[in-house]
Amino acid sequence: MKSPNDFFGSAPEVHTWAPGRVNLLGEHTDYNDGYMLPIATPQRTDVMADRSGDGRFHIYSSTLDETVEFDADEPAPPGFARYMEGCIRLLQQRGVQIPPLKMYVRSNLALGSGLSSSAALEVATLRALRTMLKAELDGVTLAQIAQQAEIQYAGVNCGIMDQMASSLADTQHMLFLDARTLDARLLPLPAGAEIIVIDSGVPRKLAASKYNERRAECEAAAGMLGVQALRDVARLADVEKLPSPIRERARHVVSENLRVLEAADGGSAVSAERFGELMNESHASLRDDYQVSIPELDELTEVLRKQPGVFGARLTGAGFGGACVALCKAGSAAGTGEMVVNRFNAAGGQARLLIPAPQQ
Ligand code: ADP
Ligand code: MG
Repeated sequence: MKSPNDFFGSAPEVHTWAPGRVNLLGEHTDYNDGYMLPIATPQRTDVMADRSGDGRFHIYSSTLDETVEFDADEPAPPGFARYMEGCIRLLQQRGVQIPPLKMYVRSNLALGSGLSSSAALEVATLRALRTMLKAELDGVTLAQIAQQAEIQYAGVNCGIMDQMASSLADTQHMLFLDARTLDARLLPLPAGAEIIVIDSGVPRKLAASKYNERRAECEAAAGMLGVQALRDVARLADVEKLPSPIRERARHVVSENLRVLEAADGGSAVSAERFGELMNESHASLRDDYQVSIPELDELTEVLRKQPGVFGARLTGAGFGGACVALCKAGSAAGTGEMVVNRFNAAGGQARLLIPAPQQ
């Protein structure tokens, strides 16, 4: 593995970083123009950059121990550099002059485990470019460019939540986010509470195909109800006339939006007890109505719910594997998280505590 010094030879001109995110509430709502409540992870991705001087881009990821090179006017090869090339090309399209660069990537975010390492990579890359080239770019615009980089260059049809959270959230606040207006407000975590995040260790195998299927079902539901998006359905009762399974999918989205609105009521979060109940309801809705849970996530969240001091737990991310999140009494997250992981793994599981980050 190369150190920044091996790669640059001297201190690079810029060094920026961006966090990953965990969504506390509001799952599968972003592509329905709805609401969500992510928070930033303490884990982050760093990007360092310098001018290359030889007409080519040189990108090294120490996470993958992989170097990628490409000419300034040629596309990056498939793989992680596409996310970064997307950021470069989209800024160029906005008129920013970008010289060929050397870029070094380092991260303590687990890739592909649901903390959105991809958004962290994009946001950190755009921050590096912004700093180096003194580009005018506010946090929301930066998130939108990051999202487009992922869609157009990495070929992932993602919503806006991950990039908005990486760009605007911090580890002490939840970001109340409206996917339609991009209105974003920081709210404190419920008083006296902190979070636990556990990776189930189950890869999200079906996630991509089921994600597309759910998106199509939501579009069908909105069409049948005569609204632009399910966010426009204010009353839960309105979905009951839809045929199954469109009805259940819509019921999840509409009820999930109501849960986020309650949790973020009036600009200050509800109590930890109520927030926990809303998380439990969200999990049941994702399991029964949206059908994106798997037995391992049901089991992990059930074990979490049984621990003293835990207010509530749910799967987080798109489902079909990946991580779960719980809200618990401040001070108890590390101990409870470790115990739950050990118990789950004693029965053959492969879970890992992600937050609080285990001491290394
Ligand atoms: P998630 O965003 O949930 O972690 P994704 O599949 O969306 O999972 O993104 C993971 C991909 O993003 C990786 O396969 C890789 O291409 C890219 N990536 C993210 N972080 C890094 C990194 N530090 N170094 C290299 N590639 C990275
Ligand atoms: Mg991602």
